[in-house]
Amino acid sequence: MVNVAAGLSPLMRRHLGEPTLALLHQVGQIASRMGVPFYLVGGSVRDLLLDHAPKDLDLVVEGDAAMLASEVARRLSGQALTVSQFGTASVIVEGNRLDLASARKETYARPGALPRVVASTLLEDLGRRDFTINTMAVALSWSSFGTLVDMHGGQADLRGRLVRILHPRSFVDDATRILRAIRYEQRLGFRLEDETSLRLGEAVAGGMFDTISGDRLRRELDLLLQEEEPLKPLLRAAGLGVLRGLYAPLDGVPGLHRLVGAEQPDDPLVYLAVIASHLTTKENEAFIKRLNLTSRWAQVVRDTISLRPLLGEVASTTSVVQLCHMLDCLSHSAVKAHTLMEGKSAASEKLRRYLAEYRYVKPSLSGRELLALGVPQGPTVGAVLARLREARLEGRIANRSEEVALVGALLKDPSLTGTG
Ligand code: ATP
Repeated sequence: MVNVAAGLSPLMRRHLGEPTLALLHQVGQIASRMGVPFYLVGGSVRDLLLDHAPKDLDLVVEGDAAMLASEVARRLSGQALTVSQFGTASVIVEGNRLDLASARKETYARPGALPRVVASTLLEDLGRRDFTINTMAVALSWSSFGTLVDMHGGQADLRGRLVRILHPRSFVDDATRILRAIRYEQRLGFRLEDETSLRLGEAVAGGMFDTISGDRLRRELDLLLQEEEPLKPLLRAAGLGVLRGLYAPLDGVPGLHRLVGAEQPDDPLVYLAVIASHLTTKENEAFIKRLNLTSRWAQVVRDTISLRPLLGEVASTTSVVQLCHMLDCLSHSAVKAHTLMEGKSAASEKLRRYLAEYRYVKPSLSGRELLALGVPQGPTVGAVLARLREARLEGRIANRSEEVALVGALLKDPSLTGTG
């Protein structure tokens, strides 16, 4: 971790660049004139202290974010954007967009309920956050620019490489933090602090995920799948019983263990397919419902389950055309998932060739060109295109003129054209 005795300006210069730093200085000055303290907070500060470039800038105003946004737009010839109901406002200055949030605190009517949000001080805002490493702020106001605010021991936990909750009921208040804890732990190579680990286990065992809506769980799972190496947090979640806590039949996730040591796909949906790959059709439908999966995600998990019983046939078929008939209607994420889980088997080899080669095989003649060659309008065009693709897949034809010759032959086939 970086020593910040001199303030965070040098780190901000290094990771945000001079133009962004200058803009933050200007906004800080405007905020100071308005008498509203202005800060960089949360994950951005954590990343700066770890000497990483933050993914985005979390900016908090101890006051009215919308008023600051419109004043910045007025003074710096920028454009203030619509204000959201959660006290956030955005402003664009010379192509740079800044999202400003009013400091706020939250109260929970019951575990897992959406919080009631009210305006607050910075300290209250930081006190509602998930982990100590996300509770630091850097002052951006004119007189204190670059000064670190660390009220919860965030620096010490960064040094100790610990993910630590702020209070014992944190996971009960909001069980999505269970997934967040694992995500940070695995991304940063940290470890769950002892009490945090204990409370996390209690919250999972106590069924706290049941208090969270499918949409919120899906969003948090999505963030986890978007990580650079999702296998790590997924294996950790499986080990801690967190996947089982999310949805009981996910227990065990045999597919996930088969991915260890395999090539890691960069398609996040492959991991989704893998964790659902052992479910029965009925369990899968309940999983889709529980996490309110989007239609695309639902298709991927359904295709993964449908492909499972076909793997024997995939392995044994000697026909590329038959292989494509089985796979063409399935999502590629599902096919990829089985390719990886199958390891070095015959089925895996076929699936691999399908993804790398066969799925791209297409006739070079277009539907329009077929019409010009005398193919009658209507379903025959699709049927001829399918025959051309089959011939290409089987290597019977290899170029355009051979396609034209085959079309000529097919036009004489009454079963295809309906003539004769
Ligand atoms: P990442 O590096 O993955 O972008 P981040 O730390 O910027 O992560 P966000 O999900 O963008 O995290 O959230 C911004 C900040 O809001 C976090 O740093 C954290 O302080 C706070 N936060 C987000 N979700 C929660 C939550 N469920 N409970 C408490 N605080 C949260």
